[in-house]
Amino acid sequence: EASATAAATNVDIGAPTIFDKIIAKEIPSSIVYEDDKVLAFRDISPQAPIHILVIPKSRDGLTQLGRAEQRHEEILGHLLYAAKIVAEKEGIVDGFRVVINSGPTACQSVYHLHLHVLGGRQMKWPPG
Ligand code: ADP
Repeated sequence: EASATAAATNVDIGAPTIFDKIIAKEIPSSIVYEDDKVLAFRDISPQAPIHILVIPKSRDGLTQLGRAEQRHEEILGHLLYAAKIVAEKEGIVDGFRVVINSGPTACQSVYHLHLHVLGGRQMKWPPG
């Protein structure tokens, strides 16, 4: 049934995601930063003047932060430092926000761990 299929793409079943195609450069993205472990590209639906996603090139079970294991510590640190590099490159290092939505309650929709780097405007608190 169509709606069930649509919903299934929004739950963590460990299936490949659209980010695999972005990593493979099978679909275009606006890449801001890249190294051997991570890729940073502009969000297609920006929630701030600057909205960049930072993702591990190898998902390695990291569908969501809530499923991280100790073996992921190094890549998690690498992703966070890459967020800082991205903020610097984008000229927002003096004020930016990093968000990780983990699981359906947090409205995660793509089950390949990603950091949102947001800036270029005054951010509000609390977030919705
Ligand atoms: P949400 O969709 O609620 O923001 P996530 O935290 O899972 O949940 O974020 C996924 C993000 O991926 C969204 O901000 C969405 O705009 C972005 N996105 C989806 N497809 C693409 C794409 N092809 N290129 C760039 N960004 C994308």
